[in-house]
Amino acid sequence: MTNDVLALKYRPKFFNEVTGQDLAVDMLSNSIKLNKIHHAYLFSGTRGVGKTTIARLFAKSLLCNEGISNTPCGKCNACIEIDKGNHLDLIEIDAASRTKVEDTRTLMENVQYSPTSSRFKIYLIDEVHMLSDKSFNALLKTIEEPPEHVKFLLATTEPDKLPETVLSRCLHFKLNQVDFGVIASHLKNILEKENIEYDNESLDLISKNAKGSLRDSLSILEQCISYCNGSLDINKIKTLMGHIDEEIIQNIILKVIHKSPEDLISIIEGIQNSISFEKLLDSIIDILYKLSLYKINPKIKDNFFDNDEFYNLTTKNISSQDLQLFYQIAISAKKDIPLTPNQKDYFSMIMLRMIYFFDDDASDTDNVNSVPDNSKGIDFDWNKIIDQLNISGITLELARHCVLIKKDDDNFSLMIDQKKQDIFPKSCLSDFFKILNNFFKKEYKYEVIYQENLKTPDYIQKEKMKTENNIIYNKASKDPNINNIKEIFGSDIDKKSIKKIKDVEG
Ligand SMILES: [Zn+2]
Repeated sequence: MTNDVLALKYRPKFFNEVTGQDLAVDMLSNSIKLNKIHHAYLFSGTRGVGKTTIARLFAKSLLCNEGISNTPCGKCNACIEIDKGNHLDLIEIDAASRTKVEDTRTLMENVQYSPTSSRFKIYLIDEVHMLSDKSFNALLKTIEEPPEHVKFLLATTEPDKLPETVLSRCLHFKLNQVDFGVIASHLKNILEKENIEYDNESLDLISKNAKGSLRDSLSILEQCISYCNGSLDINKIKTLMGHIDEEIIQNIILKVIHKSPEDLISIIEGIQNSISFEKLLDSIIDILYKLSLYKINPKIKDNFFDNDEFYNLTTKNISSQDLQLFYQIAISAKKDIPLTPNQKDYFSMIMLRMIYFFDDDASDTDNVNSVPDNSKGIDFDWNKIIDQLNISGITLELARHCVLIKKDDDNFSLMIDQKKQDIFPKSCLSDFFKILNNFFKKEYKYEVIYQENLKTPDYIQKEKMKTENNIIYNKASKDPNINNIKEIFGSDIDKKSIKKIKDVEG
């Protein structure tokens, strides 16, 4: 736990000290100047962007003893008490903290009583979407017909969870995540005021890790300063942040594009276990996105990559479609990372998945017997067609166990795995032909052939899994711990028992 010294010390005391929220601050400040003061305000945005800070400054503007002003004096009792967090007429409620939920209702019931010493009684309710039902009802009642002296300042990270009745009665300010560059220059400012030595690389790394949250940037900065004994040392900070060098990330992507699973695995094995593989995956996603943009507009390169060789090697060898595919694989795998017992292994699997999906000619290396003569018709990507058919259940099963081959302009051969001959009823086949004709927008005729050793989508997928399992098996065979276990029990790994966790669940 850090003690947020910097966050407290540099907390803005006036609107013009707020960082990264110019639009909201200008609008609020103008409304005060014009004396157009609403009775309920909602500030939404992700954590640490300044919601409650801005709300408190607004309260100060309304409660300053010198009069309502967008530049409160900062010196009167009211201003000082608000800065210290103990002004009696600024009632702060944190709806996320359970202990206070019961008090909330009582507070709400006291709304109608006049303020103790000031012109307004201001309720600042943080994480307002988390109020209990009873408190919400009390809030609703007052917000519908608020007494003149009451103002509501609501803050939330999840405005979508608020009832329409509340939303429609609030002036809603949506606060942005703070821009990376803005955070960096804010931190730089603080470091200079504090006389702390720093370098730009450290500044960049800290700002990036704050992910748009000014508050987080300050607590990370503080952590780094204390970890580096009072100054910023980029090497120590890299260790602290579990940072991985760009070069390693680029190498991983190159190995995927060059379809070198063994090299890929050995790079990943070289990465220390303690780093966050979720962050590593984020970096991969980030680079895939940049490569995709580069494909659209090569000029963009200069903003993104220092390493010309990397972008040359990658973009030449991969299509935009495959970049899309990689991106999707990475994004959809991300949500399962926290559930996996071993992040590193899971990360390897995600990267391998990219190689196998990318590897169009994988099936050519399979030792399948040649398909019969009538396969010499017009071929097309059956897998891609299946994806577009929007089918499920037994029809999807059928599609996965067959190969469709076009014989001529009016006829198709549907070749079905012989082992599945008795599984699909005639009605299933005729439905399937209707679906296909709908898809092709033409009345084709179909001839059904049952055949052994077909390279059906199901077969190809199983082959890919076998290859994945072989790689894991080989890796496991080299693991000293597993070898110890094998020795103690006089046993071996059952290759067939190797399973991806996701498949077990699915
Ligand atoms: Zn004042």
